[in-house]
Amino acid sequence: MRLSRYFLPVLKETPADAQIASHRLMLRAGMIKQASAGIYSWLPLGYKVLRNIERIVHEEQERAGHIAMLMPTLQSADLWRESGRYDDYGEEMLRIADRQGRDMLYGPTNEELITDIFRSHVNSYKDLPLTLYHIQWKFRDEIRPRFGVMRGREFYMKDGYNFDLTREDALHAYNRHLVSYLRTFERMGLQAIPMRAESGPIGGDDTHEFLVLADTGESEVFYDSEITDLRFGERDIDYDSHEQCQAVMEEFTSRYARTDDTHEEAVFHERVPEDRRRHGRGIEVGQIFYFGTKYSEPMGATVQTRDGETVPVHMGSHGIGVSRLAGAIIEASHDDAGIIWPEGVTPFHVGIVNLKQGDSQTDGACAALHDAVEALGLAPLYDDRDERAGAKFATMDLIGLPWRITVGPRGLKNGVVELTCRRTGKVEEMTPEQAVERVSHIYAPHHHLRPMTEPMAKRSFHTWL
Ligand code: ATP
Ligand code: MG
Repeated sequence: MRLSRYFLPVLKETPADAQIASHRLMLRAGMIKQASAGIYSWLPLGYKVLRNIERIVHEEQERAGHIAMLMPTLQSADLWRESGRYDDYGEEMLRIADRQGRDMLYGPTNEELITDIFRSHVNSYKDLPLTLYHIQWKFRDEIRPRFGVMRGREFYMKDGYNFDLTREDALHAYNRHLVSYLRTFERMGLQAIPMRAESGPIGGDDTHEFLVLADTGESEVFYDSEITDLRFGERDIDYDSHEQCQAVMEEFTSRYARTDDTHEEAVFHERVPEDRRRHGRGIEVGQIFYFGTKYSEPMGATVQTRDGETVPVHMGSHGIGVSRLAGAIIEASHDDAGIIWPEGVTPFHVGIVNLKQGDSQTDGACAALHDAVEALGLAPLYDDRDERAGAKFATMDLIGLPWRITVGPRGLKNGVVELTCRRTGKVEEMTPEQAVERVSHIYAPHHHLRPMTEPMAKRSFHTWL
């Protein structure tokens, strides 16, 4: 993509009403625009990040054996009356009447709708286990929408629902979600710590929230510092293995880590030596619940067992804040100059900065680099505007692309360009071919790259050098 043809409405001024870094940076980098309180348009750059986050969520859900579908945003109140939540949910629920005067609502979550789908189509133990999920907009009429997409009223969420015959199977589904969430967040460059939490209006006893540690987070957290050393990494997990999933769950939840709702000072002191006790803040990016038959019983979601007995299914639900994650990643990864995207979610993979627009040799080398990066299956953003170098660097730093190739006539005389790492600031000189190859290696773990063939690597740089 050439920047001259893109839509990147960056702001020079720091927006006065944005209180935290991620909100400020998302506005300044032209990622979002507020449409009304807690409701945002996702401008092209923000939309790319949102889709990348969504893609990782889909890939990891599918890897865990969960099945994607899509339910509507608007729901009938009748189902919520059946579960008893229509009256319980309170003012966060946006209630709407259609022209026939029927009570509708903009879904804050989907337990009722999915339970209705399940009971209409499944009635035998043979169809279990089953986990269905979707990624869809939700609406909660938050009393204080704030911090941009972090606490919106309309927000994008992955919500999944497991249906199992027994409590034991449902707890395996719980553990499986825990494992898949660890993988999901690490792929986004985040450390999200599972912490024991309260269930709120979803209900149930077993629940963990995943928190990204950040001073600007809205949750108060208490934890054993040892937990921050844990990494899921590149483990090969068999998601069908109860033992393997259980072992990961135990590894990641046996140390003390709780939100303020469940925190017990006495237990904290008893279990964690003083030098490892930490008290801080975190951003909730996901939550998993096991709630047994809370919905299946009142709504009649039952199956026949092998013995012909009719029993309510055991369920759980599992959410990831897809739109909140865009903000959470920035909170965890930025500096004074702007955003620093992790490779897994970056809107463009490499920025190309032309230091002398209009110089035919420099223009040609930039165009060739742009095409070579695209040929790898990666997305370059080429700043081909007629602007000062300083302004181009400032834009690249603000929008946070992790790698930048800088091309100028002086370097080209010696056959080199510069590759700059946004995170460390380290600059390396190399030939354009080497820069393309480095970029392909950097992104190989994140993408299903086409292998770089010889002719592609040699591709026509020599015509410019
Ligand atoms: P919170 O405690 O932050 O209000 P919640 O516990 O009510 O969130 P869940 O029902 O667990 O939210 O929803 C699943 C995920 O959706 C949360 O972990 C969070 O990442 C995200 N989420 C919830 N509310 C919002 C919101 N208002 N704006 C953006 N994301 C949200
Ligand atoms: Mg929650």
